[in-house]
Amino acid sequence: MIDFQNVIEEIHNDLKLTTQRGVVASYIPELAKQRNTSFGIYLKHVSGDNCHVGDWDKPFSIQSISKVLALSKAIAFEGNNIWKRVDVEPSGNPFNHLSLLELENGIPRNPLINAGAIVVADILVTHLKNPKEDFLHYVRGISGDQTIDYNLDVATSEQRTGFKNYAAANLLKSFNNLNNDVDVVLDFYFHQCALEMNCEQLANAFYLFSNRGKCVNNIQHLTLSQIKRINAIMLTCGFYDEAGEFAFEVGLPGKSGVGGGIVALLPNNFVIVTWAPGLNAKGNSLIGMQALEQFTTKTNRSIF
Ligand code: GLN
Repeated sequence: MIDFQNVIEEIHNDLKLTTQRGVVASYIPELAKQRNTSFGIYLKHVSGDNCHVGDWDKPFSIQSISKVLALSKAIAFEGNNIWKRVDVEPSGNPFNHLSLLELENGIPRNPLINAGAIVVADILVTHLKNPKEDFLHYVRGISGDQTIDYNLDVATSEQRTGFKNYAAANLLKSFNNLNNDVDVVLDFYFHQCALEMNCEQLANAFYLFSNRGKCVNNIQHLTLSQIKRINAIMLTCGFYDEAGEFAFEVGLPGKSGVGGGIVALLPNNFVIVTWAPGLNAKGNSLIGMQALEQFTTKTNRSIF
């Protein structure tokens, strides 16, 4: 039996004082307030055991990590119909890239780049009576945690500066791939990205993807086939134009966000979450990726 606590402490000790920490995102002004020294790791095993180190209990903006949670809810509503409006191919491009969208007639490459996530947000706005409240209710439910909430300052901050997302939404609308009003969909999308959670809450939220569709409260939310597909999309598309690198270095399905969080999981085994706000040039947490590479190398636990 591997001593996971010991492994994550070793990794934390190795990386916590490094000076190469990447750059905190500032294109959403509210995120620029984060301290670049923050660093936490949390691991939750499907047995229920967990271990943690560093700033695992400090809340941060989950940003694009929310795209997986939104996708899971949209799939629960629409099943395979969703794939008529968004593809499942890696984009090989940055998360907010637009030219491919125009070239491919308004069908985003995948649901984990911004344009794809905006289509998913549109689907949720169509299905949910009170989209922001109902989505929050879903996230709280799968995490078994009623304290999770949106950070409204982050949502407003992105609303003011999210010009590329407005461009993406308008492009989608021009191709008839957005059924609701651009402002309504983006208001939902900015709130979804502004969910604030700590490493433990994120590990709980993603538990169902490692536990065959059953959440921490043992409720079946998705079928095995849906879980397979969501994990496959995380593996191939979860890190934008660095998805290949993450699969190569870490070997787990996962998802990053510009708040510095990364969630990765081994189906039927564990969910591991890292948070370190400094990003690399591709917008993924620099030491978070290094920590996860060390983790799968030291423990020999990966999907390969
Ligand atoms: N809300 C951010 C955006 O739309 C999410 C980006 C990310 O985390 N990669 O730009």
